Amino acid sequence: MEGMKRYNGKAIYKGIAIGTIKLMEKSKNDTSLRKIEDAEAEIARYNEARDEAVRQLQDIYKKAVEEVGAEAAAIFDMQSMLIGDDDFTDSVYSTIRDNMANAEYAVHESGETISKIFSQMEDEYMRARSADIKDIADRIVTILCSNGSGKESAGAGGKSILCADDLTPAETVALDKSAVLAFVTKYGSSQSHTAILARTMNIPALAGIAVDAEWNGKLAVVDGFAGELIIEPDAETLAEKEKLMKASLEKLAILQQLKGKESVTRDGRKINVYANIGSVADADAAIDNDAEGIGLFRSEFLYLGRHTYPTEEEQFVAYKNVARKMKGKKVIIRTLDIGADKQADYFNLEKEDNPAMGFRAIRICLDRPDLFRTQLRAIYRASAFGTIAIMYPMIISVDEVRRIKKISADVCYSLNKENIPYGNVEQGIMIETPAAVMMSEELAQEVDFFSIGTNDLTQYTLAIDRQNAKLEPFYDAHHPAVLREIEMTVKNGHKHGCWVGICGELGGDIELTEKFVEMGVDELSVSPSRILAIRDKIRSI
Ligand code: PEP
Ligand code: MG
Repeated sequence: MEGMKRYNGKAIYKGIAIGTIKLMEKSKNDTSLRKIEDAEAEIARYNEARDEAVRQLQDIYKKAVEEVGAEAAAIFDMQSMLIGDDDFTDSVYSTIRDNMANAEYAVHESGETISKIFSQMEDEYMRARSADIKDIADRIVTILCSNGSGKESAGAGGKSILCADDLTPAETVALDKSAVLAFVTKYGSSQSHTAILARTMNIPALAGIAVDAEWNGKLAVVDGFAGELIIEPDAETLAEKEKLMKASLEKLAILQQLKGKESVTRDGRKINVYANIGSVADADAAIDNDAEGIGLFRSEFLYLGRHTYPTEEEQFVAYKNVARKMKGKKVIIRTLDIGADKQADYFNLEKEDNPAMGFRAIRICLDRPDLFRTQLRAIYRASAFGTIAIMYPMIISVDEVRRIKKISADVCYSLNKENIPYGNVEQGIMIETPAAVMMSEELAQEVDFFSIGTNDLTQYTLAIDRQNAKLEPFYDAHHPAVLREIEMTVKNGHKHGCWVGICGELGGDIELTEKFVEMGVDELSVSPSRILAIRDKIRSI
C-alpha cells in the first residue's frame, strides 16, 4: 500500500491510461552565472548540447514537412543551420573562457546579445532572425539544464502522462502528441482547448489537480471515468484499472464495425457526421474514424507557436493537403479565430480586461484586411484541390457578413485576373453569439450555411467563462436557453435555404443527438474520436 496516493479532479475526457508521469516544464531554466573550473570541459558540454539541438531541429523539420509543407518547415532547417553561426559560437566560447562561466549563462547572454544585433538590422529578413536566435538559445539552455530533451519531447523514449498547471493552445502546437498517453492539468475545463485536444486524440484528461513536481517519472493511472489520478498504484488497483481499460477498448473495437456505414436514422434521415480538426495531421484521425467531411478546421492553429504570420503559400499548402487527404469530401475551413485564449505575440494585440469579449476572430480580420485577404487567397487557391467551404467566426451582424462577402469577392476577382483556378466555395458563418441567434433569419439570407459554435454560444448566453473551472458548478451544458437558441437557429436557417450544423462540443454529446435530429440539424461536427459513437446513436433513432 505504501506510496499509493489518489487525487480527485474533474474528468474532462473519458478513458483509462497507465504510464509514467512527465511534468511539462515551463522554461524555468536557471541561466544565472556560476563559476566553473575547467573552461574547455564546459565548452565540450556546450558542443554536445548544440549537437543535440541540431538533431532535435532536424527531427522537427521532417515532421513539419509532412504537416505543413517544405516551405513552412524551412524555419526549423534554417534554425539548425543558424546554430553554427560564427558570431554566436565565438560569443559563447569567449563568455565561457573570459568569465570562467557556466554554459547556460554563456548561451543565454550570447542569445540576448546576438538577437539584439539582429533586431537592429536594416534588412527585414535579418531582423526576423532575432527571434530565431532567441529560440535556439532557449533550446540549447533547456538541453543543458535537463541534460536531455527539449520541450517537444514530452515523454521522450516512450509515451507518458503529461502533467502541467495549464496547457495553452500555443503549447499544444509544439507538443509531440504521439508521446502523450493522457493529460492532467490544474486549470482547464470541459470546454477548454486541452479538453478539445484530448477528445481529438482520444486520450483521457483530468483537470483541477494540483500537479506536484515529486511525481515526475512515477508510475500512475489516469481514470477519466472516475476523474481520479493514482500515483504509484498497488498491484490490486493496477489490476482493477487494467480490467477497466480493456473493457473500454473492447467497446471502442465494437464501434469500429460502423466504419463504411452511413449515418442515417431508422426512418432514412441522413445526418452528416463531420470531424473537427486543428492541424493537417488531425485529418488522419478524421479519416481513421471514417469522418464524412471536416466540419471545422480551426485554422488559427497554423498561426500559433511561431514568430511571424504564416505566408499565403504556407497556408495554401496546409489547406491543400487537408483537401487532398479528404478526397473530395467537404472541408470547412474556419478563418482565423485568434485572440482571447489563443494568443500569438507577433499580432501585437493589446492586453484586454475582457479578452473573450474583446478584439478577436473576425474583428481582427476586418480591422486588418490584408491579413484576411492573405488567408482567403490561400483557401480559395486550395479549393481547386477538393471541396472546400469557408466559415467565419464570432459574427454578430448582417453588416459584418456583407463586408466579409465584399472582401472575398475582391479576392476572387484578383484570382480571376491572375488566371488562378479555384473551386465552388460555399460560404457560411458560425452562430456562436446570442446576437447571431437573434439575427439568424436575416443572416440566413446572406450565406449558404450556419454552424453553431456551442462552446462560445454557451459562454456568452450563460455569462460563464469557458476557461474558468471554478464556474463548473454553475455550468449546465444542456441549459434550455442554449437548446432553444439551437432550435431557433435551425428553424430560421431552413426558412431561407441554409443548411445548419453544430460544431461546438455539444454536437458530440450523445444524450442530445436525438433532440438535435428532431430539431432538424443537418450536420454534427465532432472530435474524430466521437464520430463512430455518434453514428451508432443516429442509426438507432
Ligand atoms: C465554438 O465556440 O463552439 C467553436 C466551435 O469554436 P472554438 O471552440 O474554437 O471557439
Ligand atoms: Mg468559438
